[in-house]
Amino acid sequence: MTKLNWAGFSKKTLPERLEHISRSGLLSTATDRLLKENQQLPLETANQMVENVLATFSLPFALVPDVLVDGKVYQVPFVTEEPSVVAACSYASKLMKRYGGLTTTVHGRQMIGQIALSGVSDMEKASKAILDQQAKLLALANQSYPSIVKRGGGAVSCRLEPLAAEDNHFLVFYLSVDTQEAMGANMVNTMMEALVPELERLSGGQSVMAILSNYATESLVTASCRLPIRILSRDKKEAKRLAEKLVLASQLAQADPFRASTHNKGIFNGIDALVLATGNDWRAIEAGCHAYASKDGGYKGLSTWTFDSQQNEIIGQLTLPMPIATKGGSIGLNPMVQVAFDLLGQPNAKELASLIVAIGLTQNFAALKALISTGIQSGHMKLQTKSLALQAGATESELPLLLPLLSKEKHVNLDKVQSILEKIRANKYS
Ligand code: NDP
Repeated sequence: MTKLNWAGFSKKTLPERLEHISRSGLLSTATDRLLKENQQLPLETANQMVENVLATFSLPFALVPDVLVDGKVYQVPFVTEEPSVVAACSYASKLMKRYGGLTTTVHGRQMIGQIALSGVSDMEKASKAILDQQAKLLALANQSYPSIVKRGGGAVSCRLEPLAAEDNHFLVFYLSVDTQEAMGANMVNTMMEALVPELERLSGGQSVMAILSNYATESLVTASCRLPIRILSRDKKEAKRLAEKLVLASQLAQADPFRASTHNKGIFNGIDALVLATGNDWRAIEAGCHAYASKDGGYKGLSTWTFDSQQNEIIGQLTLPMPIATKGGSIGLNPMVQVAFDLLGQPNAKELASLIVAIGLTQNFAALKALISTGIQSGHMKLQTKSLALQAGATESELPLLLPLLSKEKHVNLDKVQSILEKIRANKYS
């Protein structure tokens, strides 16, 4: 693999960027070709994936270069339609790399399935009967999906919880499963359904449902970083003022759900972009993380930013459930997903989960840094203006003339862009 300098990647033209990727040696001959030919999901494949297919739907596939996580540098593929997300993450990761990047801890990698039993007349007796049969239940679950056991995974443990809801009582059985490189929805669902008859027999109740939970609290990953406050400004006093504002912004997201929602949206700007690029189920990831944001009873910001004891550094931390997969589901069907995995150096599921949470924290830092200083709009509007220009039908060769003219306008909307574009085309500007 060739060690390249990724500085200035955003200034390159599209053909130059593709050439740079080729020279990086990250891609195989096959994936390099897929990228250069911009190969999309074949319609015939799409037609097999879901029902009532009419066409396929594309989104920009971009790159955040040089992200330093756990001492390793990644070139990170992003699939997103939102202007400024890639630029903001690239800027933040470049800054963070100078100060050691991010570190992560994978706390676990198991999925949870649940079977809710209702109509259990004696909860204590039923619980004892089930817990006495734990070994048999784990064996039954594993027999229903033997291939995951062969791969070194399988059902690991189980527990019970009585729950009261309105005027009903449930006895809920939870199963923890090591799903290895898969997200595990189908394998866990298979196991849960296999356990229903035995659990109904042991409890005397009836199963309401048997399914995986997306609240993947046994797949938690923490990303952290320590950054000197001078990262916020060269001026010492200003750096201190901005660092204090950053800590306040973090506290606000803990206290106010209106802010927490937007704070977390910023985190997901990065997370979803990478989850999508790797062909994963982003609804599953979103559902788990937003449930985790409410784990203390109210919806809160998922990341925190605090000072170190000397107030010389700011410490960012983000913990999320991240049951990401490198195998299974529809991963591998989309040619660009194959390119994404090659760009990332073919990480395993734990490594990919770490990188995704680290990207979430990086994107969060980018958003907060802008919010506490220049505000979000100055950078955002530049890219939003470009979107409007494209919507107005401006060609690539017209953009260098059109965008500087638009930047002089106080308020830019589609009408304004169209009228300036018409003047350019009528040679009224030169
Ligand atoms: P799959 O049903 O695709 O199962 C995983 C597949 O990957 C298996 O075929 C397995 O092979 C194969 N595999 C190859 N190598 C490995 C490895 N090292 N470790 C683990 N598996 C390996 O996927 P999941 O069970 O992960 O389910 C995910 C899918 O389910 C997603 O498409 C998701 O959208 C969907 N889904 C999600 C739900 C939710 O989130 N609530 C609910 C229902 C569906 P083998 O069988 O030989 O072991």
